[in-house]
Amino acid sequence: MAESQSPRLVLVGHPNVGKSTLFNALTGGSSKVGNYSGVTIGLTAGEFFTPHGQKLELFDLPGCLSLVSNAVDEAITRDVLLADPAVDLVVVVLDASALERHLPLALQVLELGLPTLVVLNKIDLAEKNGTRVAAKQLSEELACPVVSLRADQGEGILDLKQALRTPFPKVKEATWLPDSVGKSLAKVEAYLSSQQETKAHRQAWMLLADPDYESDSRASVRQVLTDLEPETLAQEMERGRREKVRELSQSTVAEGEEGHHTGSDRLDAILLHPVFGWIFFLGIFFFVFWSLFSWSGIPMDLIDGLFGSLGEAVAGALPSGLLNDLLVDGIIAGVGGVVIFLPQILFLFFFLGVLESTGYMARAAFLMDGLMSRVGLSGRSFLPLLSGYACAVPGVMAARSVPSAKERLLTILILPWMSCSARLPVYLLLIPLLVSGGLAQGLVMFALYFLGTGTAFLAAFLLRGRVGLSKDHQASFLMEMPRYRAPDWGFIFRHLIERAGSFLKKAGTVILALSIILWALATFPQAPSGKEQDQFNYSAMGRIGQAIEPVVKPLGWDHRLGTAMLASFAAREVFNSQVAISYAIEEDDDEEHTRESVRDEFRSSYSLATVLSLLVFYVFALQCLPTTAVVGRETKSWKWALGQLAGMSLFAYLAALLTFQLVNLF
Ligand code: GDP
Repeated sequence: MAESQSPRLVLVGHPNVGKSTLFNALTGGSSKVGNYSGVTIGLTAGEFFTPHGQKLELFDLPGCLSLVSNAVDEAITRDVLLADPAVDLVVVVLDASALERHLPLALQVLELGLPTLVVLNKIDLAEKNGTRVAAKQLSEELACPVVSLRADQGEGILDLKQALRTPFPKVKEATWLPDSVGKSLAKVEAYLSSQQETKAHRQAWMLLADPDYESDSRASVRQVLTDLEPETLAQEMERGRREKVRELSQSTVAEGEEGHHTGSDRLDAILLHPVFGWIFFLGIFFFVFWSLFSWSGIPMDLIDGLFGSLGEAVAGALPSGLLNDLLVDGIIAGVGGVVIFLPQILFLFFFLGVLESTGYMARAAFLMDGLMSRVGLSGRSFLPLLSGYACAVPGVMAARSVPSAKERLLTILILPWMSCSARLPVYLLLIPLLVSGGLAQGLVMFALYFLGTGTAFLAAFLLRGRVGLSKDHQASFLMEMPRYRAPDWGFIFRHLIERAGSFLKKAGTVILALSIILWALATFPQAPSGKEQDQFNYSAMGRIGQAIEPVVKPLGWDHRLGTAMLASFAAREVFNSQVAISYAIEEDDDEEHTRESVRDEFRSSYSLATVLSLLVFYVFALQCLPTTAVVGRETKSWKWALGQLAGMSLFAYLAALLTFQLVNLF
């Protein structure tokens, strides 16, 4: 929008501070993706009018903890603030209930010297905690306008619009920076100006505040400041800011008596307790897995019956022949074998939604932070890893929020071992073959998730040297603890519908297409008449199966499982389709192919050791082409992406081999 005439405002603030809420409150919810000159990525953009009739353009920036950071999201904010022509006003959004943690970002922005306005959001939470922030005094101290409001209720939005009067006031020099810093800044700025740099001040600030900030002018700083280490300057700036924050929170924040013992704090004393916290954590996830098996019987039978009758109806309506076979044995069996698990997937996401919207997930991240920091990761990697349980693709992309590039690479490398939801249908098909009863089945499921996650952490520990993290690298992160709340049902159900939609879409497209291909491979070439019983051996699939049998035999698999495994490299769920299709084709046509019958067949054909080795293989194998593609794109390195694919596949094979051989031994 470089050519637009209206002044441009940007929203800057920590993640979750309420920027999007404020954006919607200001613009009335109408937004589009807008380009910002100098920044390659699309930003949420909208416009609104002030009470004085001035049209303003507003951009929402990604959450940002600090301008001194190399995280992808934070670099976007930094690039916008450094862009030329400069933004007209930076609106820094702070959480009034956690001011001390948020103020450093505001100070950094003010030091940049752009016109700035500070918004204190969530004043309701601050008041609930018994905290009062003296906005007027804060405004005097910072020498910039400060508006308190409550974005989610629209309270104070009008005040904010009133305060947005052009021309926006210039900010004063940052008094909290030590003199030595001020002098160095001035020197570098003067030098850059003499080199025709148009944004000399901002550029100089960036160079000094962040010694890792890469810029063409880096060399010139060394020329100008021959007697100073860049690290020392950055630390001096930090120190100045820290002291100012301490001073500000003493002079402008008044804590009430009741502020210290809120209900949330009392609950946290238990849920974040080093022993009870973990017991609760393990208990809650065990409960979730138990319920997946115990509560989803009825909806699953319903779907099973539906596909069963659909199959019968189609089989009865069409003359027997290839088309009939394709529809019944290929499509209905193949897609049905996957869709049957929709209820369980929805159960899982329902529970995850409840845990997230009540504020528990942040506590889980806090507990994990302690564990993860020992293997070179931090709680900041927890959220990308957590979304990996749904699907590795968004998880890998969410790793952009991890500030250290090395930690980010490590997170991406281990992420596919978080058991994604595409593995669920396979687990759900196989686990009941192993044990019966919801309790035992829940335990096995729990063990599988634990196996994947635990091995991932172990791998992180072993790999951290390879990605360049030093042995004693201790990641840490300051976590925002939201207050506990009642579940947000709207949020949970929107999420559920989204998950159901994407699951069904995959079943209706990818799985459908693969089912047709698998059916064709298992049907052609056709066995000569009189030898129909041997169809599988005559088919292309049978021949592929026989070719790979020597490789999979040591795992306890036969050619049928071998081909199912191969087909799963396109999508893991295809394992179920393949099993269902191969049974449907081989069995007598008048027999019904319900979940139970497939399961009984399976149970009689394979041993416990085979089922276990299959499960272990699916826990570890990276059978997902989109993941490899997105890892390649995000790490900009096919070496890592293909290495990950090869490494995880080999590991899965060896682990399955070991499992089968060990179980057989005992
Ligand atoms: P963003 O990550 O900064 O864009 O944050 P969001 O706009 O998504 O808001 C994060 C959460 O804070 C949401 O659940 C909002 O409903 C909530 N929120 C936003 N403003 C306020 C507020 O003034 N008071 C309270 N209590 N919650 C708020």
